[in-house]
Formats: sequence, C-alpha cells, structure tokens
Amino acid sequence: MKIGIIGVGYVGLVSGTCFAEMGHEVYGVDYNADKIETLKKAECPIYEPGLEGLIKKNIESGRLKFSSDTGECIRASDIIFICVNTPPKENGQADLKYVEGAAREIATVMEKYKIIVDKSTVPVHTAQKVAETLKRYNRKGVEFDVVSNPEFLREGSAVHDSLNPDRVVIGAGSDRAAAMMQELYAPLKCPVIVTDINSAELIKHASNSFLALKISFANALSNICERAGANIEQVVHGMGLDSRIGPSFFRAGIGYGGSCFPKDVSAFIRISEALGYDFGILKAVEQTNETQKKLFVKKIEETLWVISGKTIGVLGLSFKPNTDDIRSAPAMEIIKDLLAEGAKIKAYDPEAMDNTKEV
Ligand code: NAD
Repeated sequence: MKIGIIGVGYVGLVSGTCFAEMGHEVYGVDYNADKIETLKKAECPIYEPGLEGLIKKNIESGRLKFSSDTGECIRASDIIFICVNTPPKENGQADLKYVEGAAREIATVMEKYKIIVDKSTVPVHTAQKVAETLKRYNRKGVEFDVVSNPEFLREGSAVHDSLNPDRVVIGAGSDRAAAMMQELYAPLKCPVIVTDINSAELIKHASNSFLALKISFANALSNICERAGANIEQVVHGMGLDSRIGPSFFRAGIGYGGSCFPKDVSAFIRISEALGYDFGILKAVEQTNETQKKLFVKKIEETLWVISGKTIGVLGLSFKPNTDDIRSAPAMEIIKDLLAEGAKIKAYDPEAMDNTKEV
C-alpha cells in the first residue's frame, strides 16, 4: 500500500520505517530540513535501537523515501498518517496547530479518495475537527475518511514495539476505511481492534493516564515505605506478582517524564474538564509526580546541608534509558533546582549529551 507520513519525529519515523519493513511503499515528509537531509543520507536523526539499520535497508530496497515536498507525498499516497507533535499549551491543553496545519495541507492537495489517519496523540473529537477542516479547505469535494490510529510505542524499544504491538487500535467511521487499515496491519499478525473514532481517541489518553497512575501509586507508596521502615522494591514486587495488578510500570523512582506521560495526563485532565467531569484521580497522579521530584531535591539538601558551591554528578539525563529524548525528563528539572541553589553540575548520558548541551 502507498503510505504518506507527515512528521518524521520519534513516532512518524519509526512507524514509517516499520511500514516499509512490512512491505509497504512509504513517503515521509517533515518541515525540519535538517532531519530530511540526514534521512536522505540514510542516517538516523534520533537515537532509537535498531532504527538506523532498518532505515538504510528500506531506503536501499526503494520502499522508503524522504523529502520536504508535502504535496508530492500527499498525491503519492492512499493512506496519509498525521504524526506531528502535539505539545502542551501553557494551560495544559494539547496544542493542535500542527495537526490543523497538516490537515489543511492535505485538503488543498488531495484530488482523489484518501484515508487520513490521526496517529498523533490528540483529544477526543479531534478526528471530527480534522474532517471539518478537510471539507472546508478541499474545494473539489473529494471523498475521504478520517481514522484514529493511536500509537503505543515506547521510546527505547520503539522498533520492537511497532513490529510486535500488543494491539493495534483502529477507530473508523466507515467499513471501507476500516478494511484498508486492517489490510495495512495484516502482516503484523497481532490483535487489531476496530472501534468507533471517539473510543479510539480516548483509548490512547486513558492508557497513558492509567500507566502514569501506576507509577504515581508506586511513588506514593515509596514514601509510606520509607516512613514505615519497609522496602519499596519488595513491596511492589510482592504486589506485582498478582496478575490483577502486574509488575510493569509499577516501580518507584523520581517521577515519570518524557514527551508523553506529563503532557497526556495534563491534557486528559483538561479534556475531562471540558466534558464537565472533574477527574480528581488524575489530578492526584500529576501532583504525586511533581512532589516526587521535589522530595528528591530535598533529600540532597538534607544530605549535603549546603548545596551552594558543591559539585554534583548527574548520571542519566534522558527520561529513561536507551533514548536521547530529554523532553520533560526529571533530570532536567532536578538539575535546574540544584543550579538555582548554587551547585555546579557535571552530567553524563550515553545518548542524550547533544540534546542536553542545546538546553
Ligand atoms: P516529534 O516532535 O519527535 O516529531 C514531530 C515532527 O512533526 C517534527 O519533526 C516536526 O518538524 C514535524 N511536523 C510538524 N508539523 C508538520 C507539518 N505540517 N508537516 C511536516 N512536518 C511537520 O514528536 P513525536 O515524539 O514523534 O510525537 C508525535 C505525536 O505522537 C505526538 O502527538 C505524541 O504525543 C505522539 N506519541 C509519541 C510517542 C513517543 O514516544 N514519542 C509515543 C506515542 C505517541
């Protein structure tokens, strides 16, 4: 099948490359000219285990190509994935200007039936807005379907996750679009669930919020363990072996970070508010996460007494191992707090040095 990818960041690049690996013809575009130049040389602009080899292999096979020509990408593709960033606004809502921008570009160029897929993480009812935008800016009245196909890959194991997903969620409003999307994913031989569009959109925000809830629960518990003289590692191990609870995403630490959980939890709180529901549990998840980072800095203060003038080593800067992504990484916030107290920082990360030097 002919696939267009708008936005070749962590999600678009990995998904597009994996679609090519599955045998589809993939055309990726991005605004960022440096990224496209790097990709044209079959080099990888981000660190993600196994990705560069797959990019090289699929460019050489002729199934994967990159350019800055969005119009050509749209014309050449039957299914167009919107994989652009949806960063948080000041008030915590998702900023959808890049999604709208991509939808407008598709609308002005498309001349025959296309499926437009929201793969970016977006609030419920975004597909409806994308469809309205496509209708408004396409003056030829071309037929199209908008599908929600949220992405669940984890940075650090993104290639593995994309080729071996637990499930694929397809939110479609027509049988034609649902069938084409099922055919697209058929090579993966994984469970594919087809839902209505609103449900697919909610599955993504609800999944990330639930995982963040597990982490915040473990973090809150760690504070009880410290006060009670118990060992948090043993407690979560003992709990996680219960199949109803499960061990994954159930460890205490210095709080979750990354480009997804913080912004998605906060966006889901705002979505719920807009729908007239006060999602109190989620507010506590967010608050627990913030407190956990502050408690860590407090521990350093208690240990060193005076931070000013001390040199502190920080090992690990990205938000988790095996990635160069430092977006909302707890290490960044902790370093800022320590600097504000007058510490000198010596920091190291095996993959995230370049990104950290930029900030
Ligand atoms: P990213 O910032 O790494 O990549 C987005 C890319 O889109 C950028 O390269 C940007 O230049 C490009 N872009 C924006 N508007 C464009 C346009 N109109 N035309 C061409 N290119 C355009 O972001 P990401 O981490 O890949 O995340 C993308 C979306 O996927 C977000 O909604 C995110 O929440 C979601 N998501 C991310 C992950 C993850 O682990 N990173 C996992 C699941 C879902």
